[in-house]
Amino acid sequence: MVVKILIQGLVQGVGFRPFVYLLAKAMGVKGEVSNCVNGVIIQAELTEQQLGLFIHRIKKECPPVATIHRIDIGEKADRSGCFTDFKIVKSQSGEARITQVAPDIAICEGCLQDRKTQLHRINYPFINCTHCGPRFSIVKNLPYDRDNTTVSVFEMCETCKEEYKNITDRRFHAQPVACNHCGPVYYAILNGEYSDNYEELLNKTVNLIHAGEVIAVKGVGGYHLVCDALNDKAVQKLRAIKYRDSKPFAVMFGDLAALEEYAYCHEKEEEVLTSYRRPIIMLKQRKTLSHGINPGMNTVGAILPYMAIHYDWFERVATPALVMTSGNLSECPIAITPEEAELQFGGKVALLLHHNRAIYNRVDDSIEQLIGLESCIIRRSRGYVPEPFFTDEDMEGILAFRAEKTNVFALGKDNICVLSQYIGDLKNWETFSFYKESMSRFQSLFRFKPKLLVCDMHPDYLSSQHAGTISRENEIPLVQVQHHHAHAAACMLEYNLNEKVIAIVWDGVGLGDDGNVWGGEFFLCDRKTYIRLSHFEYVPMPGGDMASKEPWRMAVSYYLYYGLTLPDSFVKRIGEEKIKQIRSVIDKNLNCPLTSSAGRLFDGLASLLGLCDVATHQAQAAVLLEQSASEEITEIYPVDCSSPICLREMFAHILTDMEKNASIHNIAAKIHNTFADLILRMAKKYCKETGVNKVILSGGCFQNKRLTELLLKLFSKEGISLYIPRRIPCNDGGIAAGQLTIAAAKIER
Ligand code: ZN
Ligand code: ZN
Ligand code: FE
Repeated sequence: MVVKILIQGLVQGVGFRPFVYLLAKAMGVKGEVSNCVNGVIIQAELTEQQLGLFIHRIKKECPPVATIHRIDIGEKADRSGCFTDFKIVKSQSGEARITQVAPDIAICEGCLQDRKTQLHRINYPFINCTHCGPRFSIVKNLPYDRDNTTVSVFEMCETCKEEYKNITDRRFHAQPVACNHCGPVYYAILNGEYSDNYEELLNKTVNLIHAGEVIAVKGVGGYHLVCDALNDKAVQKLRAIKYRDSKPFAVMFGDLAALEEYAYCHEKEEEVLTSYRRPIIMLKQRKTLSHGINPGMNTVGAILPYMAIHYDWFERVATPALVMTSGNLSECPIAITPEEAELQFGGKVALLLHHNRAIYNRVDDSIEQLIGLESCIIRRSRGYVPEPFFTDEDMEGILAFRAEKTNVFALGKDNICVLSQYIGDLKNWETFSFYKESMSRFQSLFRFKPKLLVCDMHPDYLSSQHAGTISRENEIPLVQVQHHHAHAAACMLEYNLNEKVIAIVWDGVGLGDDGNVWGGEFFLCDRKTYIRLSHFEYVPMPGGDMASKEPWRMAVSYYLYYGLTLPDSFVKRIGEEKIKQIRSVIDKNLNCPLTSSAGRLFDGLASLLGLCDVATHQAQAAVLLEQSASEEITEIYPVDCSSPICLREMFAHILTDMEKNASIHNIAAKIHNTFADLILRMAKKYCKETGVNKVILSGGCFQNKRLTELLLKLFSKEGISLYIPRRIPCNDGGIAAGQLTIAAAKIER
């Protein structure tokens, strides 16, 4: 019989068709394989028994990077003899409709070996194959063919061409295939002279690293700033260059052994670290690197080598760890061209090491952490983007603009949601142009024409204004979505939930329906609508945005609101005068928006305990509060499960504990336990009242590993299904996905 098999998932640009070809040949199956709009389609002539084995082997033996989302076995025709061989054929639906691009993939073991043995690739740093190498970062147009990438400017040499054409070769149709004779090179100006001698460049960089210098190096999706992670002076220099006060730097370790000397690493974390996506993963630190890397924190963002040059460095440097931070001035997008790098870092770093493989799409390193021994994405970029999310809903033509911080936009194509790479805070002009540039690139890459726009309700966000402009200019309807409903919907999309759920959304800030600043919300919602069941009592946010930067303002605000006296230690530290000023600002209601934000609550508590009065980066206070919590404590503070939730008793008890000089670590632990217990009790109450039995968590506050792991434990004990965002960020990086989901549910097709 002849069977049609449709395979969906990450199956294009990763050596899937040649794999199917070779498998079919080995099994004596006749037929053909081609790319199609939503995956790979196989027509095969085989027996019922062969079919089972064929599918089994496809699943089991597929190329390392390929991910199969689903396999549909279509029509079986009772005919044979129409195929004489097995072939890879051109797409029947027309290559023009294909919209799959693989993410960038870390260099594979095969290639690491090949650069030791293949004569034309000895030590070649841009080696790649169908299992590895750049993809998204170099693609300009679809289908993903060499001509449509930035490596089209390099003419393949005869040897590479042979490999490219040979179906049994690992470089069969590896679009960026390259070697020492024909591919991209690293280059730099050394002592006033141009050099592209790789050995010389390597030695130079290694010497500079040993000398405690900072260098800028072009990578896969942008430049990195690199220095010795054990050298305090070098790290300080790096901070000065980046204008970054205390935001932690990511650290690359030479190998797992080196990493495990400095950080605790569970085997699940190892799995993520060594995956082809090669993200940064947040680990508990075991031994100090330079103090300047993560001041005050007990976690370190660790990453393993993913480009050939990284391996080459670690073979030569004396240090086990290098700081690898994105090459951008704080708040600006990561530099991708030599010009941008020169402009930002020329004269500041000891060396700018460029390469001539142009980056078309900027991508930062992705960041993840394990929660309940499963990965949760924090920043979704290199290695992930533009991998699609398959949904049950028709998303065609919807473009979601997101909010402001941690910007990511999303577009809908058929039943697929594509999230852009991490873009950053839209507050500055450079990031805003990156946002607009990426948006137009994604639209042309995916041949996307917007029919419906979605943005946040907040009228002041640049993204909302931009959406408004595009809507007016092109007469495309625009839907506005409440921020926390979008957070909830993102989680519903990830788990394909299309029903009523209890959604607990805790984050920094987002505009609510009543004009107040929401952020500690309990919803009964589905994809279309929500009912606000409860939230934290509104308190003033003295100075508006300033309150986010200066957590001590929130501490004052809570104590004034609840009519409590502030702890002595706090008053001594902050000073009576400043507290009086805040009191008068609140009394006169000068720029004091009301907020129910859980993020601000964590901030206020962190400052109260003396952990962070002024934050130099987003979520710093909350992270310090989380990290200071001791493990053993199980007590909680009293909080009423009312609506709105009154925290007076909790604050009063904290005051008593502080006056008794209780350990800060114990208080921090009790605070976490209190919130976990509160969420559980509220969820149970609302499940009972509404008859709903699914609870979801979303919002940046649930990046708090301690809180979320506690919740996972508590809910599993109670037997209530708890869903937490894992593949879509729970922070504002997930908002666009949620906006898309809500818009798709709302419109009538
Ligand atoms: Zn490879
Ligand atoms: Zn070549
Ligand atoms: Fe948010």
